[in-house]
Amino acid sequence: MRSRLCCAGCGEYIYFSDEVRLDLFYTTFHTECYTGQFPLKDEGTYYDIIYKYEFMYEFRPLFPFKRRGELPTNQFIYIDRLARTENN
Ligand SMILES: [Zn+2]
Repeated sequence: MRSRLCCAGCGEYIYFSDEVRLDLFYTTFHTECYTGQFPLKDEGTYYDIIYKYEFMYEFRPLFPFKRRGELPTNQFIYIDRLARTENN
C-alpha cells in the first residue's frame, strides 16, 4: 500500500516534481507554503526527498521511473494504478 502525501500548508497533494521544504520535524510543505514556523531541515524536489529519507519509502512510486527526471504529469497511476485522469 502506497500513500500520498499532502502539503501541511495548503492540504493539496504533493506531486513528484514539486519543490518542497521539510521542517525540523520532517513536516513537508510546498516551498511556497512553508511558513518558517520551525527551522528548515531540508529542501528539494519531492521526488528526491522521498528517496533520500528511508522512512518516506511509502510515498515512493510502486514502479520507479525508467530515467531520472522523467516525471509524469499524472503521478497516481504509478502509485496505486487508479485510473485517475487529473493532471497537474
Ligand atoms: Zn502547499
